[in-house]
Amino acid sequence: MRDNIAIDGPAGAGKSTVARQLAKRLGYLYIDTGAMYRALTWKALKEGTKVTDEAALVDLARNTSLEFKEVAPGEVSVYCDGEDVTRLIRSPEVSRHVSTVAAWPRVREEMVKLQRDLAARRKVVMDGRDIGTHVLPEANHKFFLTASLEERARRRWQELIAQGNKFSLEEIKREIEERDRRDSQRIVAPLRPAPDAVIIDTSNLTPEEVTEHILKTIRK
Ligand code: C5P
Repeated sequence: MRDNIAIDGPAGAGKSTVARQLAKRLGYLYIDTGAMYRALTWKALKEGTKVTDEAALVDLARNTSLEFKEVAPGEVSVYCDGEDVTRLIRSPEVSRHVSTVAAWPRVREEMVKLQRDLAARRKVVMDGRDIGTHVLPEANHKFFLTASLEERARRRWQELIAQGNKFSLEEIKREIEERDRRDSQRIVAPLRPAPDAVIIDTSNLTPEEVTEHILKTIRK
């Protein structure tokens, strides 16, 4: 498990783009752990399970099949109970509720089990909030990507606009700020860099520059 690469950081710091590029370059599997919390949230909202009911969410998690299918190197689709939910889980409604679902300790236990199982089977580039601190603490390559709130909101807003959604930059900024606050203040596995993580401020860097920087660091 030691060769795995852990990439953590707040929303919009560029983790998924960089993780995907790294997975492609190294031939590792890309695991987007945020997608797992999102898929569970999506199912809870669809089935009417309250995001405030930990026991019901744990039950739901135990009765849900979450899978990643590699469609091309570095390109992974997410399946929930056999349905491709890759796009559905990016909805603003899921974004609004996911950090409430992810704050429940026993929900996290279920997700972390799955994440460790995946990493035991193949070398992975895994991105999330607690990969370096909790999920793969023994990984010897850990990175924490960050960027200013303005820049992170601008990136998310551009993505959403490109997909045809109509949101103001202010709305996106507020949503990200709120999610960051919940993710950093929760009791279990709060968002923070592992003591041995390399911290990279991506505000003024392209994803390609960040990927090259990480590859250089790994190969040293
Ligand atoms: O990475 P993404 O922004 O899609 O993650 C969505 C949410 O899932 C985060 O805001 C956080 O609440 C939760 N999450 C988490 N731990 C992870 C990955 C994501 O709590 N390892």
